[in-house]
Amino acid sequence: MTSVLITGCSSGIGLETALAFARRRDRVHACVRDPATADELFRHARAEDLVLDVPRLDVTDDASVIAAVTEVQERHGPVDVLVNNAGVDRTGPVETMPLDEARMLMETNLWGPLRTVRAVLPAMRARRSGVIVNVSSLAGRTFAVPHGGFYAAGKAALGALSEALSAEVRPFGIRVVCLEPGSFASRIHRDTMGRAALPEPSEAGPYTADQEWIARFLTRVQEGAGDCGEVAEAILAAVDDPDTPLHTPVGKDAETALRYLANTTYEQWLPLFLEQAESLAGPRPVERDQPGG
Ligand code: NAP
Repeated sequence: MTSVLITGCSSGIGLETALAFARRRDRVHACVRDPATADELFRHARAEDLVLDVPRLDVTDDASVIAAVTEVQERHGPVDVLVNNAGVDRTGPVETMPLDEARMLMETNLWGPLRTVRAVLPAMRARRSGVIVNVSSLAGRTFAVPHGGFYAAGKAALGALSEALSAEVRPFGIRVVCLEPGSFASRIHRDTMGRAALPEPSEAGPYTADQEWIARFLTRVQEGAGDCGEVAEAILAAVDDPDTPLHTPVGKDAETALRYLANTTYEQWLPLFLEQAESLAGPRPVERDQPGG
């Protein structure tokens, strides 16, 4: 029985992935940061009579990662498949986004996967087999949109680490895949675009109107978001198919964007992006004679 450890299973892609592996009777360790948030996961598992182990694992906390992986491996044996899914998104200007928010993004989206990778690799190396799936994002492969810099930077860095790691662990029989989903309907968008992600009116600064504009644009783009089940299927396919490319886009939007961007410079892309954003979110609220305006 294949043992699969997935982070961030309380909702969205992680929840769908946990259910998808459980449906085929793999042994699933569907990790959640806080079991109190796992109601939806438990409800679905009960409805389908699926067996899930639900360990507590906060990817930003060294001790939590080590405790969860150690307990899983002691009770159920080594992890065959690690799916690094847990992630957060916040928009904010490079100049003024609070550093603690930016650090939280990186702790979760970059150092989080590194912690779990380091926890499972010794046993994978010893058995000379294993698959690691890092859920990155199209945002890590395309040009970064205004106010999306920290999310894109974390996901791009995860892609770079995945490339190096892949070459390092391949001699030990371990595969690494970096999935790059486009837009899929989940809580992450509501958290990012919601009011909580924007400054309070009393704290409005030089970028606030621009940030609200990009939030309107992203909200419109996400109206056509796909079903998280499609990403779950792509994760299962990546685990099953040893020929899965290291960088694997998921969704029509991601495939189309990456094809277009393969031969496009930033200078060609930016005006087209701004034009598309204005067509969806209205005129950008910056002075026309400002650089980049
Ligand atoms: P989601 O529904 O918000 O799920 C994110 C999951 O990550 C939640 O279960 C959340 O748990 C968990 N999480 C957040 N911080 C954590 C931490 N410190 N430790 C452990 N778990 C933590 O969003 P999603 O769309 O399914 O996102 C899953 C992954 O896909 C993310 O890495 C995201 O960047 C990536 N992705 C999503 C899209 C998309 O369009 N949806 C596109 C590209 C990439 P809590 O309940 O505890 O908050």
